Amino acid sequence: VIGCAVILGGGMGGLFSALALAPLCERVVILERDPPPPASTDAAFSDWARRGASQMRHTHAFRARMTHLLRREHPDVLAQLRLLGVREQTFAETLPDAARRQYVAEPGDDDLTVLLSRRSTFELALHRSLAARPNIELRSGAFVTGLLTRRDASGTLVAEGFSTADGAQRGDIAIDAGGRTSPLAEWLEELGVALPQVGSSAGIVYFTQFFQLRPGATAPTRAAVGDLGYLKFGAIPADNGAHSITLAVPEADLALRQAAARPDSFARIVAALPGASAWIDPAVASPLGRPAGMGDLKSRWRNMAPNGEPLVRNLFSVGDSLMLTNPLYGRGCTLAAIEAHLLRDALQAHADPVARARTYAAAVCRELGGHFEDMRRMDAEAVEAAVAHLGGGTRAPWPVRIKRHYLRHGLGIAVRRHLEVTRRSLRAFHLLEAPGRWQADPRTVAAALGSLLRGQRANAGYYPPPGPSRAQVLELAALKA
Ligand SMILES: Cc1cc2nc3c(=O)[nH]c(=O)nc-3n(C[C@H](O)[C@H](O)[C@H](O)COP(=O)(O)OP(=O)(O)OC[C@H]3O[C@@H](n4cnc5c(N)ncnc54)[C@H](O)[C@@H]3O)c2cc1C
Repeated sequence: VIGCAVILGGGMGGLFSALALAPLCERVVILERDPPPPASTDAAFSDWARRGASQMRHTHAFRARMTHLLRREHPDVLAQLRLLGVREQTFAETLPDAARRQYVAEPGDDDLTVLLSRRSTFELALHRSLAARPNIELRSGAFVTGLLTRRDASGTLVAEGFSTADGAQRGDIAIDAGGRTSPLAEWLEELGVALPQVGSSAGIVYFTQFFQLRPGATAPTRAAVGDLGYLKFGAIPADNGAHSITLAVPEADLALRQAAARPDSFARIVAALPGASAWIDPAVASPLGRPAGMGDLKSRWRNMAPNGEPLVRNLFSVGDSLMLTNPLYGRGCTLAAIEAHLLRDALQAHADPVARARTYAAAVCRELGGHFEDMRRMDAEAVEAAVAHLGGGTRAPWPVRIKRHYLRHGLGIAVRRHLEVTRRSLRAFHLLEAPGRWQADPRTVAAALGSLLRGQRANAGYYPPPGPSRAQVLELAALKA
């Protein structure tokens, strides 16, 4: 259908776009500024100079929709991931011990299987899979400096490819998969085109440290994740005995940010978090490097075809460049993979550039728009909660307080008490279904109200462990090493 597709960026969005489009194109060229990965998983993690995707050494979780997509579309990539030591974790394996003892498998549970991998290992698997497709060329060390366009007879802008320091790479379609720092908006501005977008700050700063299981040691059985209001955390297993711990600290909390940034206090904070200390026990695991911080985290959704008219014909955007989300939800890579395949479908369905752009934009909106809005709503609520913890903000009006009470003592308990509610909520969390629907399901509402009526004492075993207060955490952080 297409002669040549040129892709800016060989990160998750670019690699998935190439995989998705290769069967439609005579040629796919990826222009990537960074060098290719070293050959092994451990070298890829420790030595790969990945300046263009500096988040690579932060925790990466992959949503079950990713497993689903790979099984259906790219079983060879899944096989490559397994070959590289990536583990699949089933729904049953994520359940607390008591729930697991009563667990009876149901149809659909298999959809909830997730992949446990370092981001570097995942990219390595994608690189190897691409190498087996002869019509994909990945040009490493190719820094893209601009978008190539022309005006057609009617004066409409048409994309022709990208320019690099080594010359032009022209193609029939151009895809921007340049990630969170994609320069597309500036390039379009130079052409006199404004790129509409909605977005907001994610309101957090990330601190991650990776660990390696010691030879012969056994890792804790499950990930530990928690939200203490003033701090969110996750201890997440990955491939080949590696795991990572992330602290997500509110942007507004300078004292906690300083504490999380220091290796000694990072370790003391983690040791105090429920379920997380087992992951850093020196008898179990040794640190891989120091904690790394990352800020300026945002959500942003760009509209490449406002009112159904593409800003530039034959130009598409995939991954963070199109839809950037708060990393806490661990969805960016899965969103990028979904978008790449929605683009493939739009390109396959139409030859006309306007119809292609409209169809792609509509599909992204239909499949992912609700999730994007849901994440922004949760971000805003989290920022409000963090400000309240710091002693700011105003008392919420009573309808908001009632809703919070229902979420904490009704719905939150039902999700932990009733496996069918757990399943329903996870299907939305893992991008297998639209958000919100599971909450409105009458069976969910009945379970939530039932939990609420039982009362907090009867539900005591279903609340997440409380964890330390912010003052206790700061006190721990202030101790001398
Ligand atoms: C701290 C953090 C933690 C995250 N955790 C998760 C997680 O747990 N799960 C998850 O799914 N997602 C997570 N994400 C999001 C995820 O990393 C992104 O959504 C994903 O990488 C998007 O893919 P992309 O291709 O759009 O961008 P990237 O993967 O960043 O790739 C962009 C590529 O473009 C290249 N590039 C940029 N500019 C140029 C140029 N001018 N010329 C040539 N090449 C260029 C870069 O080198 C890079 O390879 C996290 C993000 C952050 C910041």
